[in-house]
Amino acid sequence: MEIQMDALTGMPQQRGYLDLVDDCLGKHPQESFCMLTTDIEHFSYFNKWYGRSDGDRLLSDIASFLKRLANEEEMIIGYMGADRFSAFFKINPNLTERIRQGIISILQKVKDNEVFRPIFGGFVCRPEMRVKSIDLFDYTINAIQQAVGNLKSSIFWFDEDMARQLMEEMELMPKVTYGMENGQFTFFLQPKCQLRDGRIVGAEVLMRWISSTGEVISPDRFIPALEKNGYIIQLDKYIWEKTCQVLRRWLDQGRRVLPVSVNISRVDIREMDVVAVFDRLLKEYRIPVNYLEVEITESAYVENEAIIKEAERGLRELGLKILIDDFGSGYSSLNMLKDIQADILKLDMQFLNMDENNFDKGRNIVSSVIAMANQIDLPVIAEGVENLEQSEMLSALGCSFAQGYYFYRPMSINQYEILLEDENNVAMPNIVNRKSGSAYLRDLAQYFAVVAEVNPFTGEYHFIHHDASFKFATNLRPDTISEYIDSCVQKGNVHPDDVPGYVRRTGLEFIRERLLSRSLRILYDVRFKKNGVYKWYTFECQQPKNFSMEEPWVLFTWKLAHTDASDKIDAVTLMHRTFRAVLKVNMRTGAFDIMHKHPDAPSELYRYSKNIMDFFQKAINEYVHPEDRVKYTWFVKPERIVRYFQENEAPLRLKIRCRHHDRWICTVAEIYRSIEYSTIKPVVLVTLLDCRTDSYFQEH
Ligand code: C2E
Ligand code: CA
Ligand code: CA
Repeated sequence: MEIQMDALTGMPQQRGYLDLVDDCLGKHPQESFCMLTTDIEHFSYFNKWYGRSDGDRLLSDIASFLKRLANEEEMIIGYMGADRFSAFFKINPNLTERIRQGIISILQKVKDNEVFRPIFGGFVCRPEMRVKSIDLFDYTINAIQQAVGNLKSSIFWFDEDMARQLMEEMELMPKVTYGMENGQFTFFLQPKCQLRDGRIVGAEVLMRWISSTGEVISPDRFIPALEKNGYIIQLDKYIWEKTCQVLRRWLDQGRRVLPVSVNISRVDIREMDVVAVFDRLLKEYRIPVNYLEVEITESAYVENEAIIKEAERGLRELGLKILIDDFGSGYSSLNMLKDIQADILKLDMQFLNMDENNFDKGRNIVSSVIAMANQIDLPVIAEGVENLEQSEMLSALGCSFAQGYYFYRPMSINQYEILLEDENNVAMPNIVNRKSGSAYLRDLAQYFAVVAEVNPFTGEYHFIHHDASFKFATNLRPDTISEYIDSCVQKGNVHPDDVPGYVRRTGLEFIRERLLSRSLRILYDVRFKKNGVYKWYTFECQQPKNFSMEEPWVLFTWKLAHTDASDKIDAVTLMHRTFRAVLKVNMRTGAFDIMHKHPDAPSELYRYSKNIMDFFQKAINEYVHPEDRVKYTWFVKPERIVRYFQENEAPLRLKIRCRHHDRWICTVAEIYRSIEYSTIKPVVLVTLLDCRTDSYFQEH
């Protein structure tokens, strides 16, 4: 038998290895054997982060180890391409463990980074089974696939359960085909909500299979199988088309339309030109592109990065928003955040429910993902939110949107339409458009005196924007950012007290360190001399959303420490410190938006009220002092308010006592015309302000 050897590892290649295994099976029909295949999780990242030569070295270290072992023990080994190795031997738990430990310790020695974990898939082959080597290998690969993302164990055995599952999947196929031919597939919609008030901002399309008996079958029961054999692409195309038809109908009927997102399977991206499909659908059904969004699961990125990236680029060029689905359920999550081009992140809360002991850890993950996303202006939708506690926690952590049973379960298209008919269920603004690409830089440029892109590894830099009034540097353009900073310092343009801090924080080493710790946002106030006097500027270094190791540019910005923007922020802070709550209300429809709510204010009241009258009624029943109820009820009567503002501009004002925990506090309620006010759309602001003189009030 002639065996092809692999040049890098000096081991038999896949074909040769499988031939050797078949040969051995043929010679020992009465023995039990074990095949063990290993695969390194996220190996493609290894090459990317540490370079190909380190990657090759790792592979040849593993190969040497296996070859050594194969000299001592009776076993067949093979290199199966990429990062896969396989071994075949008479059943022997000791040997299994030696292989496992050996490869784990090689990885630890080379790079002690737990992202790159070896996973082992095993299969025990008994004499009565009569399988071929290629099937054995398939089973071990199947076992590895089960293991991806499972951190509890590193070795997985293809077992009878898995074999049974394979069988079930085979039986499922004809039923799916029948279902597709007979219109049994449809979708439900699950609203996505604003966390602060539960109002709807959009919905997700979730496939459902209504079987011949009328049973609603959820996708978890059939999609994994359809992904394996590629059937999913037919079904997904069908659901996307149905979605566009429904959007078209809503538009034609003049209904309120909020964006809906469809799920894209990684198989869709691998097996068909999704960009072309969406392009056709958008055109054929004349769907304004902001009404359709796509969800791509996070794990797809890990598996097949290049292809996903390309599809992602095409979809974005069409103008579709991309949501990263199931974020946090995979493993590379935190690292990935800075690479991805997504518009919205869907953070999976389910892992919080899995293990109560790990709740703190889960919470920390949630909190750091939200913090990081907020830094790069990436909206987060928490999904799988099931209770008030989760919802409160998410609000406190700065998350704005949620989807989950706590708000709404997935519902039929018809139920969803009815829900949206009531304006009070719907959020006023949609999920904010994220700044992107050049628009994002243009905005920056207006706001900052100087914006530069800096490569923290080489010191290269170039200015994106340079305000004429900001001329501190020499006319000669220094080669690196450090030389540029030094020249400013040497010319005496930086206040002597600020020099050490400034030089340190603009130093490449400092920035690289921060990059590694993944908390890159450096802020430093520094005085620059301008026309002979020192003025405060804010220097800031941040990592833009398209930062990648291939294009490792960070942004350096300088702005006057005192600008309109900071005034605005001050004003908003002041408002937030002052008022208990500020509401914007359309007095005719009762729709309202909470512009501000003090953390102390009772959140149930705000969360559950969707119409201003519910809100007032609940407030009156539960929070207003019994003696003040009558006059407050009169004060907030909508018809009275509408009539009053038709003739008056001056605010309405009333003092009442409100319950605050177990005390009564004097509160001033005021109602003003909003800047949006018109007689047709009487929009007013309602503010609630605590009086400092509450002790006085208690006595009277
Ligand atoms: P997904 O994209 O993560 O969708 C969210 C799933 O979580 C849905 O399950 C939804 O019903 C469920 N869910 C929502 N809120 C909660 C909650 O508070 N608690 C819990 N425990 N679950 C909640 P569903 O509809 O069974 O879909 C399962 C998965 O099937 C989806 O997960 C998605 O990956 C896939 N899927 C659904 N529709 C399609 C489709 O049209 N095409 C493709 N390729 N995949 C789809
Ligand atoms: Ca989804
Ligand atoms: Ca999800």
